[in-house]
Amino acid sequence: MKKLLILIIPLFCITGCSHKEVVTIIENDKELISINYPVTNVGALDDAVSSYVNQIYTNFKKGSQKEKTPELNISYTYKELNESVINISLNTEIKTDKKINKIKTFTYDKNTHKFLSMEDIIEDLDVLDYDIKQKLLEKYQEADMDFLSNVSYDYFTIDDENLTIYFGPAILKNKTNEIIYLDIPLNSLKLLIDIDKSKNTDIYLNIKKKNIDYNDRIVALTFDDGPSRYTSKILDVLKKYDACGTFFVIGNKVDFYDETLTRMLKEGSEIGNHSYSHKWLNRLSREEFERELNKTQEEVQKATGFTPKLFRPTYGGYSDRLKSYTDLYFVLWDVDSRDWKVKSKDKILRNVLPNVKDGSIVLMHDNHAYAANAIETVVKSLKDKGYKFVTVSELLELKKLRENE
Ligand code: ZN
Repeated sequence: MKKLLILIIPLFCITGCSHKEVVTIIENDKELISINYPVTNVGALDDAVSSYVNQIYTNFKKGSQKEKTPELNISYTYKELNESVINISLNTEIKTDKKINKIKTFTYDKNTHKFLSMEDIIEDLDVLDYDIKQKLLEKYQEADMDFLSNVSYDYFTIDDENLTIYFGPAILKNKTNEIIYLDIPLNSLKLLIDIDKSKNTDIYLNIKKKNIDYNDRIVALTFDDGPSRYTSKILDVLKKYDACGTFFVIGNKVDFYDETLTRMLKEGSEIGNHSYSHKWLNRLSREEFERELNKTQEEVQKATGFTPKLFRPTYGGYSDRLKSYTDLYFVLWDVDSRDWKVKSKDKILRNVLPNVKDGSIVLMHDNHAYAANAIETVVKSLKDKGYKFVTVSELLELKKLRENE
């Protein structure tokens, strides 16, 4: 059933929706799986990306059974180099008894319907070839000359400043599981295509203040693993009932949904941080953990001008060690909808409604349709019972006021 999920979503999108989006698959059963990848509505590119993801997912499921807490994490980069050329990279990390780290990139021209290689983008690649090898030798002392002589430049990404070329571990004598790459400044290259610079937007928004009476019964609805195409459906319901939520977003997806994030804030909801690529945090070094947090802070700031103050740990797993590395406030929950697992609206309602009490924090997910289908009944029922909806920050503030009384 879960394998089907990967196959169905992109196919549905090619025919069923006109906007690009990010598909997120999170599983937390025997394995920890977090996959984020973009769907562009460009058929050949989407097919290539989703079949690559599907192949990694299937192989991981086949091979991971014996290991303790095996983890698969796929994140992406997405860049429109100009109006017709899209460059995507998929970064795979597998943590079982051995660690695997690899990158695959796709560069596709919508006008010519062709995948592009580096020869299509860089002029005089044969002249540059010598330079690239010299730089690789400078950066990686243990590079293997025999391998270097036959090296090909299959995988690359381009951002506003650099062309980054990725190499397989075979180019080093001592194999590593780190990604081997080389940055080459774009201004030192002769390019065969135009590259548009990313636009910088300056926005600033404040969270809408609400009038909550000190003695009101309050509840905070929280949504993890978005944003996604289902998020606006949830926002529509929240708006209709003058409610709000707190959205713990995955930083890797924020750029695709900047308008959705802006809308959250405008309509009185709050944005929290749910890491950049949804890895299992207890396994990360301090540097890796900080990078996961900071990259998401930057993405949200860039998209909205708002700086999150709350953090929800992925898979609900954290430690005092991790807490000591950040000023963000760790937020868990006391009511779990288990929406991703039970899937049905009725079961979600049964998990949520009888368990909400004054001051509850409810966990739902906005990366699939399940919570979106149940949200109207959840909100309406709680409202009928006299609950006022607050963001998690507001809930914490009110609880503090009540304690100090
Ligand atoms: Zn999550």
